[in-house]
Amino acid sequence: MLLRNVSNVEEHPLLYEDVEDPEPRDNEVLVRVDYCGVCRTDLHVIEGDLPPIVPSIIPGHEIVGKITKLGKNVGTLSEGEVVGIPWLHHTCGRCEFCITSRENLCESKVYTGYTVNGGYSQYALGEEGYVVRLSKSAANIAPFLCAGIIGYRALKVALPKPGGRIGFFGFGGSAHLTLQLASKMGYETVAFSRNPVHLRLAQELGAAETVMTTTNDTQSEVRYLDSAVVFTPAGETVLQALPLLKKGGILSIAAIHMSPIPQIDYDKYLFGERKIMSVEANTRADAQEFLDLAARLKLESTISVRSLKEANEALIDLKNGKVVGAEVLDCRSL
Ligand SMILES: [Zn+2]
Ligand SMILES: [Zn+2]
Repeated sequence: MLLRNVSNVEEHPLLYEDVEDPEPRDNEVLVRVDYCGVCRTDLHVIEGDLPPIVPSIIPGHEIVGKITKLGKNVGTLSEGEVVGIPWLHHTCGRCEFCITSRENLCESKVYTGYTVNGGYSQYALGEEGYVVRLSKSAANIAPFLCAGIIGYRALKVALPKPGGRIGFFGFGGSAHLTLQLASKMGYETVAFSRNPVHLRLAQELGAAETVMTTTNDTQSEVRYLDSAVVFTPAGETVLQALPLLKKGGILSIAAIHMSPIPQIDYDKYLFGERKIMSVEANTRADAQEFLDLAARLKLESTISVRSLKEANEALIDLKNGKVVGAEVLDCRSL
């Protein structure tokens, strides 16, 4: 499903086209894609919120599939292995960020489904050291590859104290995995959303409390969150979260793109050593840590599956808030 011109997803900008099978270069593997998750970042790529890097692109960066061919110099992966290809496709390995284990901040990083073709396709390329080994190929693993990994990083960035109370604002693909993880890790989790269906799912996944948000500004008198994670791309959400944050608390934002955050009153919102942190991509360590935790704590994703050809429709549903949990494209058959 190829994007030639960025446009609103309602115009069905992804075109079903035949493209040449990619050929793995040095250190790369060719993966036959079984499933690819649909992430909000894909929507930002397709609609141009993120400026195009290449003339045309196949989106998708939550890829699950089998290795069918090895490029030169691949030493640790073999044909037939099941792997995941995440958003972080490649980094330079030499810059000040890469050499200090912060490759998520590398200025020359390459993104799956944005800089290089991704998984809304039958084949995709991954790089050794950046693809992750998976125990099996299954549709419900696909959302782990970005929604899960980035959510996990956002959780780490928010530095919750052991057993602390964490607020989750916006309850989509990423939050439904991150809240579940945090609950299983012993944190007290509170889900905030405008959507009652999302809140019901949050409750099933272990939320200690669910809060229906009706206005942009929460009117609570009590500041009771040790940390907060914002998952929506709407800047106003920051104003819902900040008034609930205790002194010294960190609010992390798990969004690659956000509408402007409205002007804030320093005394009311930020004073008391509260911090706002953005989250950029993930390190390879984040990916491995999250996948290990997901397996050990038996995380379950809630998904709806569509065929590859229905990618436009899947994205329209995502944009309109109609998805409960996450959507996954089945790329095995057409
Ligand atoms: Zn670098
Ligand atoms: Zn993503």
